[in-house]
Amino acid sequence: MKILLSCSIKYPSHRTASPLSCCSGKVIQSKSVHDFKTCSCGACSVNGGLEYLRRVADGEESYAELSITEEITDTK
Ligand SMILES: [Zn+2]
Repeated sequence: MKILLSCSIKYPSHRTASPLSCCSGKVIQSKSVHDFKTCSCGACSVNGGLEYLRRVADGEESYAELSITEEITDTK
């Protein structure tokens, strides 16, 4: 059963579409908000493109975060 690890408001700070390294050694990327990608081994998935980072995985040991993120604080 997959667990949702993160749907928090984190934004990639660069334009490489939130890469994620799977425990199987593959790198998967979500290229747009609705571009849901699952690794061929099925251990982890990404979504959110450049808008936010969403990771679905068996556990935190199933992937390594490659995205550089920054917390966006609304100062209005
Ligand atoms: Zn994999």
